[in-house]
Amino acid sequence: MRVKAIIHLGYFMENVRAVQKRIGSERRICIPVKADGYGHGALQIAKAGLDAGAFCLAVAGVDEGKELRDGGIKAPVLLLSQPHPEEIPSVIREFLTPLVSDCDFAQALNAEAMAAGIKLPVHLKIDTGMGRMGCRTEDAPGIAGFIANSPALEYAGTATHLAAAESAAKDDIVYTGRQIECFRKALEDIRKQGVDPGIVHAANSGAVLLHPEAWFDMVRPGILLYGYKQVNEEETAQGISNDPLNVKPVMELQTCVVFIKKVKKGESLSYGRTWTAVNDTTAAILSIGYADGLPRLASGKWQAVIRGKTYPLVGRICMDMCIADLGPETEVRRWDDAVIFGGCAQGASALAESAGTVHYEVICNVNKRVPRIYDVSSR
Ligand SMILES: *Cc1c(COP(=O)(O)O)cnc(C)c1O
Repeated sequence: MRVKAIIHLGYFMENVRAVQKRIGSERRICIPVKADGYGHGALQIAKAGLDAGAFCLAVAGVDEGKELRDGGIKAPVLLLSQPHPEEIPSVIREFLTPLVSDCDFAQALNAEAMAAGIKLPVHLKIDTGMGRMGCRTEDAPGIAGFIANSPALEYAGTATHLAAAESAAKDDIVYTGRQIECFRKALEDIRKQGVDPGIVHAANSGAVLLHPEAWFDMVRPGILLYGYKQVNEEETAQGISNDPLNVKPVMELQTCVVFIKKVKKGESLSYGRTWTAVNDTTAAILSIGYADGLPRLASGKWQAVIRGKTYPLVGRICMDMCIADLGPETEVRRWDDAVIFGGCAQGASALAESAGTVHYEVICNVNKRVPRIYDVSSR
């Protein structure tokens, strides 16, 4: 194969177990599999994650939920983003668990669930400082009461989302603490009126690492389960444990050397002639470009690992190809594998940094034309 994304499902399962160990067996894990499982393949990730002990899944769109149901997933599937009113019948049909931020939406869901003759579980979403979806904290008890009194709805849970949980900066730690405090207060107000808030959840990856007070009944770490730690919890004042949580990148992006050629001193390579050989050298043409998901902004700032050695990528990254400088003498042969990130190479976060973005975007942007090859050896 000219290019492939090897998905190490065994690593994913180990990451799930490591998080479970960190949060304790009494708490549950919800696996965000939105954006096709952060580019890894939602269904395969969902199955592996549930096998490793996760409780439920979360998607952004209704179609993403349908894909899981079509694939045979029976576990609860949280719908994190607000669906369009047209999609409500599909929410009911696929038995997704929507996050509800207002009474209008709750009412529409209740009507449709009633017509279908089912009781639909929903979670209340409270905005405690993310400023995105979610009701204002002071409105939470009212909406909670409304849901609890809707005959075709089951008030199954209460959630919030943290805006800066992965940051170890002092003011961000304070901000997160305040968000958690607001959330606790809203939960208390909900309980005060005799409504059970159900499964309470708030923690994304950053909070799993840095904010145990945000773990509640369930955590929703995405990037952490896919193998990326944004923060080093031992290096922060918040350090939770001296038993660091080790995770491994699940995706390994691999291409191969499709051509090798001599390059003479003074010759330039690729579009825009941004790179010129200062000495005679050898170039390897690699079959991966920005259309596959290797960011063009990483041109001249990234490298590939071939036969265990690291070679700089030189010149502009093209749509379907890029070029590695092998030096004058080389053991590299045509058709050798070349690892771009993961596996024996650095992870996607370093690549993301070179391209001025975040690892989330790099892994999500691995194009669908790149086949996902599932490594089940360690499952
Ligand atoms: C995506 C998402 C998560 C997971 O975030 P990570 O930073 O990947 O851990 C959790 N909760 C909500 C609501 C999300 O949208």
